[in-house]
Amino acid sequence: MATIALDPRLDKKAADFIAQKHRMYVDGKFVQAASGKTFPVYNPATGEIIAHVPEAESQDVDQAVHAARRAFDEGPWARMSASERGRLIWKLADLLEQNLEEFAEIESMDNGKPLSVARAADVPLAVDLFRYMAGWATKIMGHTFPISFPGEFLAYTLREPIGVVAQIIPWNFPLLMAAWKLGPALAAGCTIVLKLAEQTPLSGLRLAELIHEAGFPEGVVNVLTGFGEGAGAPLAAHPLVDKVAFTGSTEVGKLIVKAAAGNLKKVTLELGGKSPAIVFPDADLDRAIPGTASAIFFNHGQCCCAGSRLFAHKDVFEKVVEGVSNIAAKIRVGSGLDPQTEMGPLVSEEQFQRVTGYIESGVKEGAKVEVGGKKAADRGYFVQPTVLTRTTPEMKVVREEIFGPVVCAVPFSDADLDRIAREANDSIYGLAASVWTRDISIANKMAKRIRSGTVWINCHNVFDAALPFGGYKQSGWGREMGAEVLNNYTEVKSVVTAL
Ligand code: NAP
Ligand code: MG
Repeated sequence: MATIALDPRLDKKAADFIAQKHRMYVDGKFVQAASGKTFPVYNPATGEIIAHVPEAESQDVDQAVHAARRAFDEGPWARMSASERGRLIWKLADLLEQNLEEFAEIESMDNGKPLSVARAADVPLAVDLFRYMAGWATKIMGHTFPISFPGEFLAYTLREPIGVVAQIIPWNFPLLMAAWKLGPALAAGCTIVLKLAEQTPLSGLRLAELIHEAGFPEGVVNVLTGFGEGAGAPLAAHPLVDKVAFTGSTEVGKLIVKAAAGNLKKVTLELGGKSPAIVFPDADLDRAIPGTASAIFFNHGQCCCAGSRLFAHKDVFEKVVEGVSNIAAKIRVGSGLDPQTEMGPLVSEEQFQRVTGYIESGVKEGAKVEVGGKKAADRGYFVQPTVLTRTTPEMKVVREEIFGPVVCAVPFSDADLDRIAREANDSIYGLAASVWTRDISIANKMAKRIRSGTVWINCHNVFDAALPFGGYKQSGWGREMGAEVLNNYTEVKSVVTAL
């Protein structure tokens, strides 16, 4: 095994956790992979190895699924009251909050994001999501129906947990994505096998320790580390799994659908995006410029809803591009643990190659680099925040999800909202959009015309546990969060009694 390099700026708790021998969580126990295999975890700021984690394969997946199946079919979980389930989820939220700093440091080391962001966003949002979902445990209910069938009947519905759920998550918000998935499934009474992203397994493994500490019955939550093909694929195909919930690329989303077809498991998908941010000439530019810059540069553009296509009216286009470019040029790029850092490295060598490859392809096809466009350090996976102009609708940089700090800025001259919307909707994706204007009528007319799961008006990247989030078109199936997500984790049963 290669030597482990830890950052001296880490607190002891986070450093000790990262340095420990990592195990997966299956059937209430911390275990190695059946094969004994492990794989390395990297610090994206340096490219150095910081840990090794077990490499789950089919046999481990099978054990975890059987544990979840037993916990669903036989264990105390199914007999537990809704209020007890809610209390356990709330306890998990409390434990997470008590360890906020440690989780923020783990997340920053593993994913590369600034510690300040993990502290202010990733961890508190995960805490909040668990608390919100804890409240739902006691409020999942059916209806009664005045049916007209001849005779006298009492008809009602029950909302029951869907069963064993496979959850597969990406690396951009490792802890938060785990919370988005686990919270509602636990509130509904499901049991779970969660596969973490290979690039960022550490916060999920630490969360497994808290799940154990909170006292969830064994087998209710199982947490695996492994690769997409080796662990994700057998999990998505497993015949004892009732439902699969996936977040990641549209490409892999399609593989999940195929894998799930064997036993027709229910599928929800939260996939990619190419979200437009549309600036009208009357917009308050003092807000729209920093707002649209943050729409793309937050989390280094590694957000499925990143505002990666910036449309600005020709009257304000130059000013907007100049403003966003000035912000981009001033963003302090560095190690996530450095308190000065505003943008960290991309998550991996692979993403670094992918994002810089997109920038090169844009330039080759004739785009102009207003700012950025280059590697931002000698080591680690740093890319400069980049603004491209003179793009055309056919270019790859305009059509495909880059998942990095790269925005394509395009002017529009139209006053016809239908035409502006058509251009904004010209994408296989439909995850999110933002509209920047002082005119509430234009704002709301655009909100109606945009085909996406979220439309933000004079803001971008506003998330709340209460608010459904998900995609139209190839951005996904179903919604995360809010009351809406509970539909993904429950079955509806109609019960009819002849009186
Ligand atoms: P990805 O391959 O879709 O990975 C997402 C998750 O799916 C990971 O846990 C991955 O495992 C797993 N997976 C991969 N292949 C699988 C398979 N055949 N069956 C079951 N599970 C499988 O995404 P990525 O490679 O990390 O990133 C590639 C691109 O996806 C990004 O550049 C971005 O465009 C998009 N993306 C979107 C989101 C989003 O929030 N919508 C998040 C991340 C990435 P591994 O960890 O081993 O890959
Ligand atoms: Mg992958």
